[in-house]
Amino acid sequence: MKSGVAKKLKFAGIILIALALIFTIGVAVFVGGTNYIYRIRASYIESIKVELAEGAEVKNTILMIGDGMGPLHLEATKGYFGMDTLFMETMSYNGMVTTFSKTGVTDSAAAATALSTGVKIQNGGVAMDGGKNLETMGELAKKHGKSVGIITTEALYGATPASFSAHAQFRGESDRITKSQLESGFDLFIGATDLSNYASYEYDIRAAGYDYVNEFDDLSYSSDKIFAVFSKISTSNGTNEQPELKDIVRFAINFLESKSDNGYFLMIEGAHIDKRSHSNDIKGMVEQLKAFDEAVNAVMDEASVDTYVLVTADHETGDLRYNGETGDAIKNSLYHSGGHTGKDVRYFATSHVVNLPRRIDNTNVASVFRQLISGSYAA
Ligand SMILES: [Zn+2]
Repeated sequence: MKSGVAKKLKFAGIILIALALIFTIGVAVFVGGTNYIYRIRASYIESIKVELAEGAEVKNTILMIGDGMGPLHLEATKGYFGMDTLFMETMSYNGMVTTFSKTGVTDSAAAATALSTGVKIQNGGVAMDGGKNLETMGELAKKHGKSVGIITTEALYGATPASFSAHAQFRGESDRITKSQLESGFDLFIGATDLSNYASYEYDIRAAGYDYVNEFDDLSYSSDKIFAVFSKISTSNGTNEQPELKDIVRFAINFLESKSDNGYFLMIEGAHIDKRSHSNDIKGMVEQLKAFDEAVNAVMDEASVDTYVLVTADHETGDLRYNGETGDAIKNSLYHSGGHTGKDVRYFATSHVVNLPRRIDNTNVASVFRQLISGSYAA
């Protein structure tokens, strides 16, 4: 009897140890495998040495990011509104962008970090890798004497604007991100939502030398630096409290131009293309994408000829499958996921840079902008 119990206990112990071993080996193989796949994929990324078009000059750079804006999001928007082309499609060059992060399918933090710093990291990090700060695009532009602006249709502590203007281990550290942004010395921040949170930072915002603005009419060229938060950014019929992105970008371009003789860097995010796609709300998504496209039009209209503009996305959201439907046939059921996918996204760019390959990586975008900002390219 006694020895039977002991045998059973011994047997259970062996099983437990075996399970623990299998689990450990499984985790090791998974992590190693992910790393192996990542290294293979990353090894195909080619570096790009920027070549400018003959006679072209680049003083200013504008990067526009449609969060979650996959290739079929563009097609569905045209189908819904009966448009032949979007404005962004009329830009001189276009191609595809790979978006994977060190984790695999990227989140907005790792994607924006890649677009901003040129370094692929694990999902969740904000311009930090292994506890070390990665130089953001905004910091590089400041180093080269440029004025810097960061615009999003959502909260400024969101992963995309944060990765161009702050450092944090994790994207959820909104307090750290806000303080990091206030220490940046950047000239212009414009975002929306979470007004009560930002009201609690009003003292810190002013102490950092920013005018704190909540209404469009209060955006002033006489401000030294501006930190603006609206209750919402509208897709149409904008108001003083809820202006439209296309009007905001026009102000931003003129404001940044007036702040430096050395040009400016401006990042503009359309955040809700992703958010509407997470909720599989296709009508909300197409409205957001159309408003983002109108902002691209406004940027191209307002910016001077020596301004390089590139429009892209950080990743695809919602596994959207579109097959030429129009009008009301464009339904929420065209979405096949509530999350991000690893699908390539599009890029559209002005004529200044002549040698972008048809397929690039998100880290190439950072590299191209960094060469243009620092002036280290072949004229
Ligand atoms: Zn997302």
